[in-house]
Amino acid sequence: MRSLSTSEIVYIWETGQNQHWVDRALTMLSIAYPDQLVSDLALLSVGQRDAYLLTLRELTFGSKLNGFAECPKCGEKLEFDLNVSDIRLHDLTQPMPLNYTLETDGFQLQFRLPNNQDLAAIAGCQTVEVATTMLTQRCVLKCDRNNQPISSDQLPAIVLSQLSEQMLEYDPQAEIQLALSCPACGHAWSALFDIVDFFWTELSVQAKLLLQDVHLLARFYGWREVDILSMSEVRRQFYLGLIS
Ligand SMILES: [Zn+2]
Repeated sequence: MRSLSTSEIVYIWETGQNQHWVDRALTMLSIAYPDQLVSDLALLSVGQRDAYLLTLRELTFGSKLNGFAECPKCGEKLEFDLNVSDIRLHDLTQPMPLNYTLETDGFQLQFRLPNNQDLAAIAGCQTVEVATTMLTQRCVLKCDRNNQPISSDQLPAIVLSQLSEQMLEYDPQAEIQLALSCPACGHAWSALFDIVDFFWTELSVQAKLLLQDVHLLARFYGWREVDILSMSEVRRQFYLGLIS
């Protein structure tokens, strides 16, 4: 993997404008992995996908992440810093098993971890219950009770809850919780860190800044967009300094 170029940052922003966030994640990864089919990238587990996105972000903008949150108790706005290495839990050099098993209370399950295709499939679900049922149907590959095959719809809530815990245990990168505390009122809470949303926001800001530079330089010098975007940051900023 390598860092995203300026043209690629603008391309991702342009392409992702009207995409669902699930598809934006794939747009970012498909640029980082041009040799891989998008359909294959969609089969990465959610945690693997996020570990790759964290690495792409690290290569493109550096290892320090600047986060913002609002205290749910007093509304105080706070900034916090994170390092990519603090929240990257997956070792990307290690392949992950395709299937896992769960045995509990006479139930035997074979399942796989949720991937980007599953997230796309449940994106339109109206309730969490419907989404959970659909995700279970998709990810449970085999389901027996006392060695007799049953449908995944027949699984009791306690088994579904254990299944969900197991999935997260095997793919911890899929749900990163940050422990935050408010400096104003002392309230402590945990917040979900979503690399897809975080990186997309950063890329959008950067793309718009780049296009502003293109606008100024093209207007002043008459250069083409493609030539301005292929300049180094140092050279582009030098020319911008001359015309300001
Ligand atoms: Zn507070």
